Amino acid sequence: MVRVKVRVTGIIQGVGFRPFIYRIAAKNSLKGYVRNMGDAGVEILLEGTEKAVNSFLKDLKEKKPPLAQIHEVITVELGGENEYTDFKIYESSKKAELSGSVIPPDIAICGECLKELRNKDNPRYDYFFITCTDCGPRYTIIERLPYDRENTTMRDFPMCSFCQSEYADPSNRRFHAQTVACPKCGPKVYLTTCKGELIPSEDPIREAGKLIAEGFIVAIKGYGGFHVAAATTRDEPLVRLRQVKHRRQKPFAIMARDLEAIKSFAEVSPKEAELLASYMRPIVLLKKSSNFYLSDLIAPGLHNVGVMLPYTGLHYMLFDSIDEPAFVMTSANPPNQPIVKDDGEALKILGNIVDYFLFHNRRIAHRCDDSVMRLHGEKQVFVRRSRGYAPAPIILTEKAGKCVLALGGELNNTACILLGNKAFISQHIGDVENVETRDFLGNVAKHLIHLTNSKVDAVACDLHPKFTTTRLAHDLATLNHWQLIQVQHHFAHVAALMAEHNIAEMVGVCCDGYGYGVDGEAWGGEIILGSRNSLEFKRVAHLEKQPLIGGDLAAIYPLRMAAGILNKKVHVEEWLIQNKQHFRHGENEIQLILQQSNRGRNFETSSCGRVLDALAAVLGVCYERTYEGEPAMKLESTALEGKDVLKLNPIIEGDILNTTEMVLQVFENREKHAMADLAFSAHVYLAKGLATLAIEKALENDVKVVGFSGGVASNEIFTRVMRETVEAAGLRFLVHEAVPPGDGGVSFGQAVFGGFFQF
Ligand code: ZN
Ligand code: ZN
Ligand code: FE
Repeated sequence: MVRVKVRVTGIIQGVGFRPFIYRIAAKNSLKGYVRNMGDAGVEILLEGTEKAVNSFLKDLKEKKPPLAQIHEVITVELGGENEYTDFKIYESSKKAELSGSVIPPDIAICGECLKELRNKDNPRYDYFFITCTDCGPRYTIIERLPYDRENTTMRDFPMCSFCQSEYADPSNRRFHAQTVACPKCGPKVYLTTCKGELIPSEDPIREAGKLIAEGFIVAIKGYGGFHVAAATTRDEPLVRLRQVKHRRQKPFAIMARDLEAIKSFAEVSPKEAELLASYMRPIVLLKKSSNFYLSDLIAPGLHNVGVMLPYTGLHYMLFDSIDEPAFVMTSANPPNQPIVKDDGEALKILGNIVDYFLFHNRRIAHRCDDSVMRLHGEKQVFVRRSRGYAPAPIILTEKAGKCVLALGGELNNTACILLGNKAFISQHIGDVENVETRDFLGNVAKHLIHLTNSKVDAVACDLHPKFTTTRLAHDLATLNHWQLIQVQHHFAHVAALMAEHNIAEMVGVCCDGYGYGVDGEAWGGEIILGSRNSLEFKRVAHLEKQPLIGGDLAAIYPLRMAAGILNKKVHVEEWLIQNKQHFRHGENEIQLILQQSNRGRNFETSSCGRVLDALAAVLGVCYERTYEGEPAMKLESTALEGKDVLKLNPIIEGDILNTTEMVLQVFENREKHAMADLAFSAHVYLAKGLATLAIEKALENDVKVVGFSGGVASNEIFTRVMRETVEAAGLRFLVHEAVPPGDGGVSFGQAVFGGFFQF
């Protein structure tokens, strides 16, 4: 007979792990207990024969529940007499001894629960928040560890005797499921006017579905925040929504009733279908089909549309009584603010935007936006890594010497904790430009530290002295006596890519809109040599610098970029005057721009995004950036069906890829060739040119790997052409798979930079 204590770390609370331990202990005739710990781990005590213990440990690894992730199993033999007469699930302990465990992300409704939702004879028939050990909210309801009902916002709903009996029954799927609830004891749902006045209804969810189909705008409270919902086959609600949300062009995500409905308006590959139906249920950017019949106001000027499938019982029920194939389901957040999560906040902020509210009375502990993905062929690319993924860690091959909290950059931000070989990336935070988002970021960081039981050694942030996140990092470093590590934006992007693939040396092409360079200049089209061996990152090449006429205005009005580039070579006055309706102050503004351009001394940038902006303006694809990346996204959509008609050879001058000539060629051929072909030719020029430069630098430095990072790496044409060029040269080409190539991946990059490159 032996007595052993087993400590397990990983994602093991909230995934049916203790019931599983109970079953394999019973199967192996072991006595003792299992309990959840305050560090999100599990402690098991076993008494029995050595053979039984070994068989238990084998079962532990091989038969774990589908959502569980085991990181470590620590087994210690204990002395003393056997004390236990059976095996029990003990009350949880608050003790937090180990670190690195975490609770799971929110999980979409499972197949079993969906069946029960639809079964008239089931006590949870039609219950909108039906869940079990395999599904339901986790991250968004937890307030503190361990993951027990009283530590979640489900504590406001004591279980009825029926739910309690299932909760206590080892043979039941809901044995120890903390979110178990039914119509009798669980959260309730109700419909109100935009002022919050109750509208009595037998069936508020289906009623809300009908209202949306009829053209009303309804705010719907979900797991991680509010969505604003509207019909997709009518224009009026979307016109109204765009007006009140001050969102002129930014695409809206939609939720479709089922996969068949999606196939009626978008192309869906088998891989995309799999991703759509996965338990993460991300928004997937799908190519609009040729007979796309939904409103053009959903994703204006883009070839694709973001679609997700329902992920709670409530979502499924919305579609029951109507014919609408899909609803707009956009995160309810005012400009530059986090997604709305509290009822009072919703009434105040959304009351003048929506016609009705569909509330439920469970509090949301943590906001969490939907995730967004796209596929490049078979490869998945994160646009936003949030619900369904956060806070599950990225597992690295090596352990970092110190624990680093990283606060990211400014736009599309996330936070990250690097602890040993695990990087816990937060949900989407948004643009950290004001108090609300800064507080959100601060709270998320605190919560992540607590959830993972981390002892932070260092805080990492951007190099930009004026970013809110940089100031927050400074404050935290001073307050907690943490080391402060500032990481150049594009170094962070490339460090992220290297860590994701465990690469010691890489020449990284990093293309995005803007990052503060080590020389204080505006970077964004950089080739960076990163080396773990020499602990060094340096810029080895970049795009030609182009003038930003009017500074920040040039990033908002792409014609300014085009004017600045073209004016170096040709007379553009006439062309600009032809486009004067796109200048806020008409011809006066044009004259001023030309004067500024001729005078020189403008701020300059090597940003790839700004060159794409200029091209978008030259081709008439986009004249104003109303959301981040708009001109570049519309240019990609335009280029998708194009051919390389210009066949330009990259002009490389030393370590610089010339962009002026290419923009000029596109400009001069704009009457001769189709827009799609010119847009495509420009993509090819930039991708080939950057790849050629990167290959050159790789050969010079004896590096075998070229990587591609930054927001532009979500562009499919760029990635494809660059891959072809790099692989043809016999080098390995790598892109992001686990974190977003855009700024949602910067916190991860800063953390690994701090953990592996900085001592
Ligand atoms: Zn379920
Ligand atoms: Zn109940
Ligand atoms: Fe970036």
